Amino acid sequence: MIKDNGYADLHIHSNRSDGYYAPKELIEKVAAQGLKATAVVDHDDISAYEEACFYGKKFDIEVLTGVELSVSYDQHDLHILGYDFDYLNQELSEYLTLFKEHRISRAQKIVENLANLGMPISFEAVLEKAGRGTVGRPHIASVLVEDGFVYSFQEAFNKYLGEDKPAHVAKYKMELATALNLVKTAGGICCVAHPGLRLKQDDLLILVQKGISGIEVIHPNHNEESVNFFRDLAKKYNLVATGGSDFHGGGKNENSLGKFKVPYDVVLQIKEKSVHHDGLHRSEIWYDN
Ligand code: AMP
Ligand code: ZN
Ligand code: FE
Ligand code: FE
Repeated sequence: MIKDNGYADLHIHSNRSDGYYAPKELIEKVAAQGLKATAVVDHDDISAYEEACFYGKKFDIEVLTGVELSVSYDQHDLHILGYDFDYLNQELSEYLTLFKEHRISRAQKIVENLANLGMPISFEAVLEKAGRGTVGRPHIASVLVEDGFVYSFQEAFNKYLGEDKPAHVAKYKMELATALNLVKTAGGICCVAHPGLRLKQDDLLILVQKGISGIEVIHPNHNEESVNFFRDLAKKYNLVATGGSDFHGGGKNENSLGKFKVPYDVVLQIKEKSVHHDGLHRSEIWYDN
């Protein structure tokens, strides 16, 4: 049964990327907040969906498929939220696997650079820090601190890992057009995540022309003024005004879940804009089984 009222938090992270909690624990927390729907949007990873959906069914919470893609656009890093796509879509999963492999080999190169600079850290220790999530420079920095090569996380970046520093290796970046195509091919829709952080209105208009269907209006980094500003823009350009807590847990923003949410109607709007060849939405397929 899908509820027609209530609220949704459409931006939470699990331990499949950099969140603290397993999908099951997240859904329990979402349930404790009395929310009707949610979407786990891990960074470049969709593997939380099955577990989240399974527990969603138990707690009567609708779980949309979701992902937060890190893309590169016009020399900037941009986060794109994909919703209500077919999580079994082959192109999407293959691309995400490839992306993860690139991140691993990049981390390996950084570790090699550090060894050549006289800091032999263990690549296994770095991978262990990342857990199931995507490995990156923060994990390398933590190992450098632990092994006593630097005094602090920040020193690791300032001396070795920062963009123009000796151990740095550029990251393989997904182009905006690739991200939009992937999600669209899988039947989903794309929204700009937390636009208030960097994006200007002109950029937003270009993104809309490129096929963005929504903008994240409610987000902990948006003040009242930007919430109003983006809400007006969403209305003006017929975009879905999404939102959520960007909950990661484990010391980071532990209390934000349930405080940043959107009316359930937003979920209906997303589903209206997404397209599936079989006419069904993935979350509904799980509900019916
Ligand atoms: P990566 O995705 O591997 O390039 O790592 C990016 C992450 O590293 C960012 O999200 C930050 O947490 C961290 N980071 C990047 N640059 C710096 C910096 N100059 N100082 C501290 N942390 C940084
Ligand atoms: Zn994150
Ligand atoms: Fe983000
Ligand atoms: Fe996020």
